[in-house]
Amino acid sequence: MIQLSNTINFAKDIDSKDALHTYRHQFYFPLLHGKQALYFTGNSLGLQPKTTQDAVLTELEDWATYGVEGHFHARNPWYSYHELLNESAAHIVGAEPAEVVMMNQLTVNLHLLMVSFYRPTPQRYKIICEAKAFPSDQYALESQVRINGYEPHDTIIEVSARGGEYCISHDDIYAAIDKHKDELALVIIGGVNYYTGQVFDMKTITQKAHEAGAYVGFDLAHAAGNIELKLHEWNVDFACWCTYKYLNSGPGSVAGAFVHKNHHHKNLPRLAGWWGHDKVTRFKMEKGFNPIPTAEGWQLSNAPIFSMAAHKASLAIFEEVGMEKLVAKSKLLKAYTEFVIADVNLQLGAQKGTLEIITPLNDQPGDYFGSGCQVSIVAHGYGKKLFEDLIANSVIADWREPNVIRIAPVPLYNSFEDIYRFGEVLLSIMK
Ligand SMILES: *Cc1c(COP(=O)(O)O)cnc(C)c1O
Repeated sequence: MIQLSNTINFAKDIDSKDALHTYRHQFYFPLLHGKQALYFTGNSLGLQPKTTQDAVLTELEDWATYGVEGHFHARNPWYSYHELLNESAAHIVGAEPAEVVMMNQLTVNLHLLMVSFYRPTPQRYKIICEAKAFPSDQYALESQVRINGYEPHDTIIEVSARGGEYCISHDDIYAAIDKHKDELALVIIGGVNYYTGQVFDMKTITQKAHEAGAYVGFDLAHAAGNIELKLHEWNVDFACWCTYKYLNSGPGSVAGAFVHKNHHHKNLPRLAGWWGHDKVTRFKMEKGFNPIPTAEGWQLSNAPIFSMAAHKASLAIFEEVGMEKLVAKSKLLKAYTEFVIADVNLQLGAQKGTLEIITPLNDQPGDYFGSGCQVSIVAHGYGKKLFEDLIANSVIADWREPNVIRIAPVPLYNSFEDIYRFGEVLLSIMK
């Protein structure tokens, strides 16, 4: 284990030895008050790769050149464009290419997949999810429950953190699954919690839910491109994710969906559209939906090419680096963030407030499973002024009322020096 140190020399030294350090030069960093920002919100909107504009421009040019003929004659024919993404998207989530498809947006995909995997009966209708899930997920669950004729209050079972804690105990999730096993239809959880950064043990949750006879799905908005995933191997039934957070594909860009191979040939009920229909007969324009026997069978509409082009450019970088190397750097960068924040507390002394990290620490004992790169910090004794001071010092972080700062040191483009500078700014404004 490397001996960490909160000094600029240490940070620069470790950057110089980091094989991924040069990747930051492949991204545009925003300017704030005339200075390159310290950017820590890759968990909200990832930075733009410098290759994105060319990728989108290619499609604009081909549209100009070919018009409708571009569906078949563009350099990357639009008719089958989404197929160009399947393999590298599969690497991101640990799936077989036939198990993934890029389509729509995250909440839309959550709804589409719940139509197939939430089929409540009077015996089995309950859903287990984590308390304080991202609001869009809560709204999606509640509305799915209602359109099936059930009431959210006796259908959705939320597993909460214990009193005084922020993260959710896995034992409590397993106990809830066991308690409701005879009425349970679905377990759906965010693979990484957006607020605390807690990672859930998707493999064991899947196993326990299946033992109870329920389907399992994960919202991977904060997991895709952040942690290592093995959806196929874990036997997860379905998952969805967005691509504008860790996957750097631009605001509102196309989202992903995963359906395990086990379900491809079951002709599951679904909302259907022509792009999910058998490719050979699609343009015969005939009656009778015949789904493609892969995740593509859940597509509704023809592909949004411009956002897919941005996603394609970004995936090429992930293919080159690989999730394994990213995760290894991510762990060290997070350990350094924890170290620097502990040192800031130490230098501030006890008379001021303190910074409490609520994200599970690296190698934290107990039944928390770990985290990705995000670090959520409660600034005890400070209010929004702290956040305003960060902005004034060209730090872009995320603020949640009343006093939580979330930062995501992203291994692809954040450096150890970024973290050192963050500590320096914190210390100067908190003093
Ligand atoms: C970011 C995020 C969303 C956003 O949903 P969109 O449909 O992409 O607008 C939903 N759920 C979670 C857990 C998120 O982190």
